[in-house]
Amino acid sequence: MNSMRYISTRGKTSPMGFQDAVMTGLAPDGGLLIPESIPDVRDRLDKWSELSYQDITFEILRLFVDIPDDALRSLIDRSYAPFTHEEIAPAVPVGDIRILELFYGPTLAFKDIALQFLGNFFEYILEQRDEQLNILAATSGDTGSAAIHGVRGRDRINIFVMHPKGRVAPLQEKQMTSVLDDNVFNLAVEGTFDDCQRIMKSLFRDLKFKNRYTLGAVNSVNWARVLSQIVYYFSAGLYVLKTDGADRVRFSVPTGNFGDILAGYYAYRMGLPVGKLILATNENDILSRFFNSGEYSLGDVVPTLSPSMDIQVASNFERYLFYKVGQDSIRLSQLIDRFEKDGTMQLDVGPDGNVDEVFESGIGDRQSTLDTIKRYYEDYDYLMDPHTAVGVSVGERFMRAGEPLIALATAHPAKFSQAIREATGRDLARHEYLDKLADAPTQCDTLPADQGAVRAYIESHVPATTAE
Ligand SMILES: *Cc1c(COP(=O)(O)O)cnc(C)c1O
Repeated sequence: MNSMRYISTRGKTSPMGFQDAVMTGLAPDGGLLIPESIPDVRDRLDKWSELSYQDITFEILRLFVDIPDDALRSLIDRSYAPFTHEEIAPAVPVGDIRILELFYGPTLAFKDIALQFLGNFFEYILEQRDEQLNILAATSGDTGSAAIHGVRGRDRINIFVMHPKGRVAPLQEKQMTSVLDDNVFNLAVEGTFDDCQRIMKSLFRDLKFKNRYTLGAVNSVNWARVLSQIVYYFSAGLYVLKTDGADRVRFSVPTGNFGDILAGYYAYRMGLPVGKLILATNENDILSRFFNSGEYSLGDVVPTLSPSMDIQVASNFERYLFYKVGQDSIRLSQLIDRFEKDGTMQLDVGPDGNVDEVFESGIGDRQSTLDTIKRYYEDYDYLMDPHTAVGVSVGERFMRAGEPLIALATAHPAKFSQAIREATGRDLARHEYLDKLADAPTQCDTLPADQGAVRAYIESHVPATTAE
């Protein structure tokens, strides 16, 4: 069993094991938890390229977790059981590129991979400790539904998911409220997404309540989420290297909170032969501006065709920054302070104007998103969702002979059928599960945008987990 320890990017938290890191989420010093060292796996890659997706997962996870092999194997099987493709995440050749389809989970988006694992890690750890957990989440759509599907029906976990009433896409709302398990509580808050987040933060700050109900979070900075996403870079990368006889591969990644592409960065640091990681943003381009100029500064959030990437600050970016500044916690903390004060910070750029040798970055705007969807449909009879199209359109600008491009497909096109209609002029994107949702019964309670109301709701619906 592995003894990898986790440290904080800010350097003021004692090292802890994997299970504690999962339960802790955000480090107590305000930083993000990262593995103390990054394993080098280059000597194993030939062997790994013969393995199944499940077996590659096992080989990678066991380097990072303090869970016995047998329990880990069964946890992996349970996490992939709800996926509807036998290869879990196939890399499909389309035109000149490979499309890595990550949308075969229960909510048809790549977040399912991380949240199925997170649900199973929570369950395993709670069983070991004979404890209960109440998850409180605020969502504008995506993460909430993947999180609900990740923990539904589990004995030791309840989940309360707040969404802004009437402000979530109807389909995404349905994906949440149609889950009727006893441990799932959908709360429509009469306010905005910011109100939901404010309520969540204030309840987490109420330490007496937080401890009495063992409140936990599923946010995108949980190390277990990043870890479970490292796997598909290896599985797709090794497969394409082998079938194409190439020396390196490139990945293009539609990016919002920097969680997905960070997993690719870990894969690269572990020794996967990655030529470039191509970071694609929509018009909300804080990250692409950073990788092209070294300046990380806030802009306004504008709505786009790829709403899951409409972010202002990328919550996982701090992990990358830690490596970028030579693992110097003091320098990192200074940069973060500067950013929090001024809304901007500046890093050095290399002589070639690049911030990092492995990252390339660009923007896929509205028109190129629509054009890419249309072109792949007309030329290859392939439908992609708008997030995927942002990645493909930017990825194509950084193609290089001899380094196959693997474009990550982060959602099933049927989840964004309006964009498909706009791009192709036709109603093409359907999925049986989404069609069935239309008539599904739902469960949801409405509450005022007030932390007292949400606290009272929790108190009256589940027992306290600890005595006063
Ligand atoms: C969350 C999400 C993204 C962005 O992923 P990050 O890890 O936040 O960079 C891209 N596409 C879809 C469909 C998503 O749900």
